[in-house]
Amino acid sequence: MIYKDGCMKCGEVLIYLEEIVDKNCSLCGNLKAANALCRNDHFVCDTCHTGNFDDIVKNICLETTETDMIKLLNKIRMHPSMPLHGPEHHFAIASVIVATYKNLGGKIDFENALDTAIERGKQIPGGTCGFWGGCGAALGSGIGMGILIESNPLKPKQRQELAKITGEIIQSISMFKSARCCRRETITALKTVASLSETHLNLILKAEGNSNCGQFKKNEECPEDECPYYVINE
Ligand SMILES: [Zn+2]
Ligand SMILES: [Zn+2]
Repeated sequence: MIYKDGCMKCGEVLIYLEEIVDKNCSLCGNLKAANALCRNDHFVCDTCHTGNFDDIVKNICLETTETDMIKLLNKIRMHPSMPLHGPEHHFAIASVIVATYKNLGGKIDFENALDTAIERGKQIPGGTCGFWGGCGAALGSGIGMGILIESNPLKPKQRQELAKITGEIIQSISMFKSARCCRRETITALKTVASLSETHLNLILKAEGNSNCGQFKKNEECPEDECPYYVINE
């Protein structure tokens, strides 16, 4: 839930400070200069307050030291601007792949890679799973991996490799007979990316963060115990 008045995190009244203090944003976690706090001591940075969600994802990924793709995805998904389902997942997953690769010591021109991940990922609309046959979590992962292996349409080896990667991810998503769930699909995609990384990259990407679902009550189409991440009492 996003509060429109007062504190975006809790709705409380804001108190303006006489001097700026360095404080971690209560929504994205980044350390920024704060000039107002709410009565519950929350600070919300300008990007989280007024920015587009792609700026928010970019900001989180630029600052994070997280090396596990699922943990970073969970962090992004906790942001109140992230919808339960939606095309935001497509650029988020591409960003998560390049950011954790960099944090694991992978050599890339990170800012450029992140901008590319976001710009390409934003072009995948919602619903491609059921309309195009390629879930946006799989295509977003293809964008992330394509950046890491430096693929383009004219490179025979990398182009073939990338088709195999997205093909495997689409296969893994196709194991579930269910309505879309962007959480399930992104987690399945990242686990598949991690298992493929050893073959395709010079380091192994991690996807060991908590995949247990805490949102099934919000998801009307949740297949519950048909989903591998459904955990009662989470
Ligand atoms: Zn607050
Ligand atoms: Zn923030």
